[in-house]
Amino acid sequence: MALDFDEGNDLRALRASVAALGARYGQEYYLRQARSGGRTDALWAEAGAAGFLGVNLPEEHGGGGHGLVELSLVLEELGAAGCPLLMMVVSPAICGTVIARYGSPGQRERWLPGLADGSLTMAFAITEPDAGSNSHRIGTVARRDGDGWLLTGRKVWISGVDQAGAVLVVGRLADGPPGTLRPALFVVPTEAPGLTAHPIPMEIVSPERQFTLFLDDVRLPADALVGHPDQGIAQLFTGLNPERVMVAAYALGVARLALDKATSYARERQVWGTPIGAHQGLAHPLAACRVEIELARLMTQKAAWLVDTGGDAGSAANSAKYAAAEAAARTVDQAIQTHGGNGLSQEYGVAALLAMSRVSRIAPVSREMILSFVAQHDLRLPRSY
Ligand SMILES: Cc1cc2nc3c(=O)[nH]c(=O)nc-3n(C[C@H](O)[C@H](O)[C@H](O)COP(=O)(O)OP(=O)(O)OC[C@H]3O[C@@H](n4cnc5c(N)ncnc54)[C@H](O)[C@@H]3O)c2cc1C
Repeated sequence: MALDFDEGNDLRALRASVAALGARYGQEYYLRQARSGGRTDALWAEAGAAGFLGVNLPEEHGGGGHGLVELSLVLEELGAAGCPLLMMVVSPAICGTVIARYGSPGQRERWLPGLADGSLTMAFAITEPDAGSNSHRIGTVARRDGDGWLLTGRKVWISGVDQAGAVLVVGRLADGPPGTLRPALFVVPTEAPGLTAHPIPMEIVSPERQFTLFLDDVRLPADALVGHPDQGIAQLFTGLNPERVMVAAYALGVARLALDKATSYARERQVWGTPIGAHQGLAHPLAACRVEIELARLMTQKAAWLVDTGGDAGSAANSAKYAAAEAAARTVDQAIQTHGGNGLSQEYGVAALLAMSRVSRIAPVSREMILSFVAQHDLRLPRSY
């Protein structure tokens, strides 16, 4: 009998410890930091010291030696407690995974211990203004410069550059045949001359901010290149499936928080002599949200398990991200409706989840691009773009 839907005592204990940490900070802390221009460094440091941020990284480099099942659970629980740490999607999940798998011994020693204990945060930069969802069009170019590299280009929507000690930048190698993309991954320290970052004003209530990055002939040593230049696409996808699973976990945390707020409110608020939750017009949509969250959670766990066991995770990771994002968008919308006017107040912290719940429909791969993937790969329909 191979199927087992019981998480087991170890994962239950991990959930409980992370939930307890998240509860000590809570949504109030998260929103206060966001609205005052502050950061979540204190929570990040505590989560790192407790081993939560590096739970997926190799033990020999200070990590927990576990996998994405555990890391995604950490993010989900922090989100459900009101503190969805977006940089967990990027730093340990994308950058940590890629460097652990493809980094040289020197690169692993240099970067992984900091990523594991949270003392170093690494951002990830693939998106460009002119390429958008079509990453094949990225124009950031890496040219050979003696033993090293010169990197030139522009990136947009890059999260957490202000928190980061380095950025894992996806560029294209200049010496490839014209018209073909040879992606390559470079670790660029944020203080490297030629690298500048400008914050983008956003409507998302989050202490983790987005930036435009300019790379103007950034000079890098030979060992800034991670992995083999001829295997860039495979190396990239080693990080992109975990990214999708982590965004699903981020969305699940937001959805659970919204549902929790909505049901608490619906149990107590009375306007016709009974709690408003007694009206099916409110109870049924909330029950439907609960069903959607549970389904998305199952798919997220399956996708994380496929990544950890070396299976083909592409379809499951995309499906999990899609399902969790839809569940989050619908649940936050219903939570606002359930709260009536209070749903739009700052006091109840529900409207604050609105833009956040939409992030997962857009990034890192949009709802439409996921549906195109499923249509083409799972349904074998013609490629549509
Ligand atoms: C909060 C936030 C944080 C982010 N953090 C990072 C980060 O840290 N690093 C990073 O590299 N990127 C990051 N991103 C970028 C994110 O991955 C992109 O926004 C996303 O890939 C979509 O690209 P785009 O915004 O250029 O939209 P576009 O590609 O311009 O798409 C616009 C719309 O057109 C639709 N569309 C495009 N092509 C098709 C098609 N063929 N068929 C149907 N519909 C289509 C899309 O689905 C979307 O609805 C972040 C974005 C956000 C919002």
